[in-house]
Amino acid sequence: MKIAVIGGGASGLFVASQLRGCDVTIFDGNEKCGKKLYITGKGRCNLTNNCDKETFLSNVVNGENFIQSAISRFLPINTIEFFEGLGLPLKTERGGRVFPVSDKSSDVIKTLEKACKGTAIKLNEKVLALSLASTGGFKVKTTCGEYRFDKVIIATGGKSYCATGSTGDGYKFAKMLGHSIIEPKPALAAIKLKESVKAMQGLPLKNVSLLALADGKKYSQFGEMLFTDEGITGPIVLTMSSYINRAKKVELYLDLKPALTPQQLDNRLLREFDEGKNKDLFNVMRTLLPKNFIEFFLYKLSLSPHRKINSVTLAEREKIVNGLKHFPLAYKELYPLDSGIITSGGVNLKEVNPSTMESKLCKGLYFVGEVLDIDCLTGGFNLQTAFATAYACSEAIKKEEKNGI
Ligand SMILES: Cc1cc2nc3c(=O)[nH]c(=O)nc-3n(C[C@H](O)[C@H](O)[C@H](O)COP(=O)(O)OP(=O)(O)OC[C@H]3O[C@@H](n4cnc5c(N)ncnc54)[C@H](O)[C@@H]3O)c2cc1C
Repeated sequence: MKIAVIGGGASGLFVASQLRGCDVTIFDGNEKCGKKLYITGKGRCNLTNNCDKETFLSNVVNGENFIQSAISRFLPINTIEFFEGLGLPLKTERGGRVFPVSDKSSDVIKTLEKACKGTAIKLNEKVLALSLASTGGFKVKTTCGEYRFDKVIIATGGKSYCATGSTGDGYKFAKMLGHSIIEPKPALAAIKLKESVKAMQGLPLKNVSLLALADGKKYSQFGEMLFTDEGITGPIVLTMSSYINRAKKVELYLDLKPALTPQQLDNRLLREFDEGKNKDLFNVMRTLLPKNFIEFFLYKLSLSPHRKINSVTLAEREKIVNGLKHFPLAYKELYPLDSGIITSGGVNLKEVNPSTMESKLCKGLYFVGEVLDIDCLTGGFNLQTAFATAYACSEAIKKEEKNGI
C-alpha cells in the first residue's frame, strides 16, 4: 500500500514515524521539514502539556467532542514517552508546559526526523493538486511530477505564518475531493482597536480582567495584556481572540481593578481625593494606574488630566469608579490570519471520522493536525492535537494494512 503524506510539519512527521515500515512518502514544499515547529514556543517548542485528558479538553476551543476519541488513545504522557524514548529529555514548566531540556525546538525536529528514518521525504516538492485516479486511489500532482497513491494523508497545517509553508493548500485539496471548509479565522491573535493607542505601545497592564461580549456571549480573562501599535496583545488577549474570532459583533471592556468592588474603589478614591484636594486629577490617578495609561483613560471619560481634585463632582467620581471597573475598548478586528499563532476553522469535522481521521466522503483520504477545524489555547495543546490526530490516523491505516484492506 502506497501512502502519501502532504506536509512535513508536526503532524506529517509524526504520522510517518508511526507508519514506519509502510511505504510512505512525505512531500513538503520547503527545503527542510518542520519550519513552523522551529519557531514554536519562541524557539524552545512547547511540545505538549503535562496534564490529564480533562485538562486537555478544557483547553480546546473548537473541536472538543471530535478530539475526545483521539486524545483518549494518545494522551500528553504518550507524547512525553515518545520523545523521551527516542533520547530527547524533557522538562515541565509553569502551567504544565513541556519543553526539551535543551530549550531547542531543533532537537524536537531532529527527533521526529530520526523517528521517520527510512521514510521517503521529498523536499522542495510542493503538492499542487489532488484527485481520484482512474485506476483507483489518488493522483498527486506536484511541482516535480505526478504520482499515484492508495492513501493520502493531508497534513498541511493551517493558514497562519505562511512563510513557514502553511499556506492553506490543504483546504484547497479537501475541496477538490468534495469537503467543505469552515472559514479560516485568526486564533491566538492580537486585537486591533478603533482608537489610537500608539502612544502606549509596549505598555503592559498586569492583573486586569478583559471582558468580551461577542454576539451576546460573555467571556472573561484575567492576567496580563499589553498595548501594540494598533491595539492589544499579551496572554489574555490571545486567549480571548480564540473565543471571539467567529463573532459578528464584539464589545470589549477592561476591569482595571478586579480585586476591588466598586464600593471599595470609591472609598479609596475618596481617601486619595481627601489627601490631595489641590492636586491635578492626573497626579492622583497615578496611585491607581500606570502613568502612560492615565491620559488615555481620562480622555475616554471626557475628563481633563489637569482638573483640580476639589472641582471633581460626585458624578465624575462615580464615572471614574465605573471607568476603572468597566473601561470600554473600541474593538475593530483581529490582526490578520497570517499573524495568528494558529488558524481556527478548516476541514469540517462533520465530514471526518473522529476515530480514524479518515474522510467520510472519500475513502483513503485522511486529515491530521491544524488543517482540521480544531483549535486550542496556548500551552502545548495544539501540538498535542497534531500528534493525537496523527496517531489515530496511523493506527487506523496500520489496522487496514494488517487486514489487507
Ligand atoms: C509562532 C508560533 C508559535 C507556536 N508555538 C506553539 C507551541 O509552543 N506549542 C504548541 O502546541 N503549538 C504552537 N504553535 C502551533 C503549532 O505550531 C501548530 O499547531 C502545528 O505546527 C500544526 O502542525 P501541522 O503538522 O498541522 O502543521 P505545520 O506544522 O504547519 O506543517 C504543515 C507542513 O505542510 C507543508 N505544506 C503545506 N502545504 C503544502 C503543499 N501544498 N505541498 C507540500 N507541503 C505543504 C508546510 O511546508 C509545512 O511544513 C505555534 C505556532 C506559531 C506560528
